[in-house]
Amino acid sequence: TGEFSPFSSFAHEVFAKEWDAHPPQQQHRHWAQICSGNPTNKIRGCDKYGCGQFGADRHSGKGKHVGVDVICADGATVYAPFSGQLSGPIRFFHNGNAIDDGLVFLTSLLLPSLPGYCVKLVCVHPIRYQGQIRRGQQLGRMLPMQKVFPGIISHIHVENCDHSDPTPQLTPVVPPFPQQDSSWAPVCSGNPTNEIRGCDNYGCGYYGAPRRNGKGKHRGVDVICADGATVYAPFSGQLSGPIKIFHNGNAIDDGVQIRGSGFCVKLVCIHPIRYNGRIFKGQVLGKMLPMQRVFPGITSHIHVENCDHSDPTSNLERGKGQ
Ligand SMILES: [Zn+2]
Ligand SMILES: [Zn+2]
Repeated sequence: TGEFSPFSSFAHEVFAKEWDAHPPQQQHRHWAQICSGNPTNKIRGCDKYGCGQFGADRHSGKGKHVGVDVICADGATVYAPFSGQLSGPIRFFHNGNAIDDGLVFLTSLLLPSLPGYCVKLVCVHPIRYQGQIRRGQQLGRMLPMQKVFPGIISHIHVENCDHSDPTPQLTPVVPPFPQQDSSWAPVCSGNPTNEIRGCDNYGCGYYGAPRRNGKGKHRGVDVICADGATVYAPFSGQLSGPIKIFHNGNAIDDGVQIRGSGFCVKLVCIHPIRYNGRIFKGQVLGKMLPMQRVFPGITSHIHVENCDHSDPTSNLERGKGQ
C-alpha cells in the first residue's frame, strides 16, 4: 500500500483544507461508512488472492485493480456512501457465482459546489436496483464471498465509473467532524468515570489483556458495573441486536450494538430495553445482567467492544469530565 499513501495523504490534505472553508451542510466530500463493522472504510490488505488497494496487480493478465476493496464481512449490512440514484444490477463475473451481484450508484447533484460521483459497488446484494437512496441508508447486504474465494479478506469492490481512484473519498476526515463530541457518556450508573475493571481471578479488564483457554487477547474493555445497575448509551446511534458472546444460554448472554456518531460499539452482559431504533447519548439503554451468578467473585462489568476491534479506552476515558 506504501506507493499509494503519499497520494492519498496529499489528496486528504487538499480535501481537508477545502472542507474547512465550507459550511457544515457541505461536508460530504468524504463518503460515509459503507460496511457495518468497518466504520473507517478500511481497505483490504493482501491475501493469497491479491491486494485491495487501487492499482494493485492482478493475476492472469487481467491488468491492474481499477477499484478499491473495502473490508466487509459476509452477510454484513452495506450502507450508501453518498446520496444518489441507484441503477443496476451489475454483473462482474458473468458466471452466476454466489457473489455476482452489485449495482451502479450515481449521484444526484443536489449541491452544485460538490463533485458528482458515480461508483459501482460489487459483491453486494442491494435491497433494490433503482430509485433514490440517502447517504448512510441501508443499501443491501454483503454476499458470501468465502463461498467463492475461501480464506479471502471479504470485501466490497468499490469502483469509480470513470476508473479514477476512490481512495480519497473513502478515507475519513480526521477528526471526523470538528464540533463532534468524541467523548462517550458514562455507561453505568454508579461509575461516572467509566472506570475499567482491574484484575480478578477470572482475568483483567483492560484492552489486550491475555485470555485463558487459548482464546487470544481481550478485544474489548470491561467497564465496572454492579449487577442490576442502569446502563446508558455512550453516544447517539442506531441499535441492533441481540449480541451474544457466550452462546450457551447463561444468565448474562445478552447485549446490543450501537452504530452512529462515527462509532460502532457492542455492549454485552447487559439486557437492553430494545434491539433496534435510535437511541441518544446518555439515554437509558438497559440493565446490567447478574454476572455474579455466572462468575462468582468477579468484578461485575459491561464488556465494551468496538465493532472493528480497535481499542475503545480513549473514548471511554474522555468521558472523565474533561
Ligand atoms: Zn476489487
Ligand atoms: Zn471483556
